[in-house]
Amino acid sequence: MKKIGMLGGMSWESTATYYKLLNEEIKNRLGGLHSAKIILSSVDFEEIEKFQHSSLWDETAVILSQEAKAIQEAKADFLIICTNTMHKVVPQIEKNISIPILHIADATGKELVKKNIKKVALLGTKFTMTEAFYKDRIQDNFGIEVIIPNEKEQNIIHDVIYKELCLGICNKKSRDEYIKIIKRLEKEQECEGVILGCTEISMLIKQGYVDIPIFDTTKLHVLNAVDYALKK
Ligand code: GLU
Repeated sequence: MKKIGMLGGMSWESTATYYKLLNEEIKNRLGGLHSAKIILSSVDFEEIEKFQHSSLWDETAVILSQEAKAIQEAKADFLIICTNTMHKVVPQIEKNISIPILHIADATGKELVKKNIKKVALLGTKFTMTEAFYKDRIQDNFGIEVIIPNEKEQNIIHDVIYKELCLGICNKKSRDEYIKIIKRLEKEQECEGVILGCTEISMLIKQGYVDIPIFDTTKLHVLNAVDYALKK
């Protein structure tokens, strides 16, 4: 079994989910007392979030590259970055390490192709929804049209992530707002699926709440990591 490097803490709420799901999936596949081999580095999200909202992305890349190097030195075989948003600085991190990074958008894109989805809605932070690093990767590498919510909806989604979900708060009112946005996108934009493109959204939205297929990036990233860890 390969050793999984996790770069987490963004936020720790979803890193805890990753840790649990990785171990559950290894146990499911191997049985007995098997559990995942993991090296985890968890950053202080307050520092990262301040840089994000001041557009100081190079500063975030310096921190994450340092942590990625430490994970490599601790002998992880590959790296997963446990957040969608921070994949924005993957090109800088890649320059500092030689172990592979399993990209969260690729894990998601593969599943969308498997499910024959041609047009999908993307929910996440404003950075993930509006910038090219995520959307273009799904569109260009997997040939899937990516639709994003309107500006008002983007603000709601973004604020709920930073002011509630990353603090472990799940509000019914926020859930209802997310459901309303998903239903509007399904009806007006004729999307065939929704990417939960922020690793905390699955705390709020589960498949039972909406009919349209949801693609939970945390879960898909975990499954991709376990496949890779167990590949001969
Ligand atoms: N975990 C979130 C994501 O998947 C948001 C927190 C962050 O900005 O890293 O994008």
